[in-house]
Amino acid sequence: MEKDCIFCKIVKGDIPCAKVYEDDDVLAFLDISQTTIGHTLVIPKKHYDSFLSTPKELMHKVLNVAQTIGQSQITNLHAKGVNILSNCYPAAGQSVMHFHVHVIPRYKSSDGLVIDFKENKLLEEISLPSIAESIKKSL
Ligand code: 5GP
Ligand code: ZN
Repeated sequence: MEKDCIFCKIVKGDIPCAKVYEDDDVLAFLDISQTTIGHTLVIPKKHYDSFLSTPKELMHKVLNVAQTIGQSQITNLHAKGVNILSNCYPAAGQSVMHFHVHVIPRYKSSDGLVIDFKENKLLEEISLPSIAESIKKSL
């Protein structure tokens, strides 16, 4: 439990939520923003600041629940697709520093949520092999 963490307060029951799923380690509840109807957050009950800092076994449990919720959004909310997303650190758009996975049902591609992998304008100056080598150093 991190003192000023809003998701720790939700786990503790100090802040209400629309609960979707709960077990000993994982909680899932509706995102207050409802970017699309059914937008769900899946979190570990124990506080870790992001996907990157969460122990793998627990991260797998969170992703396992996220997959099942995505399947349910297709079956029961009649979504046509689902985005699974975890922002890691403010530079990537993370605003709540407690690991969470967004499970966002998509009903049509023009629903206002834009995840657009634009081609880098400097692509010709980028050496893909040397970038791959840098990432491989820690693998
Ligand atoms: P992030 O920007 O960190 O990837 O996502 C944080 C998400 O938490 C946002 O989509 C935001 O709407 C949601 N959120 C923030 N505060 C609350 C809250 O008190 N209750 C619920 N259910 N969602 C929240
Ligand atoms: Zn927390």
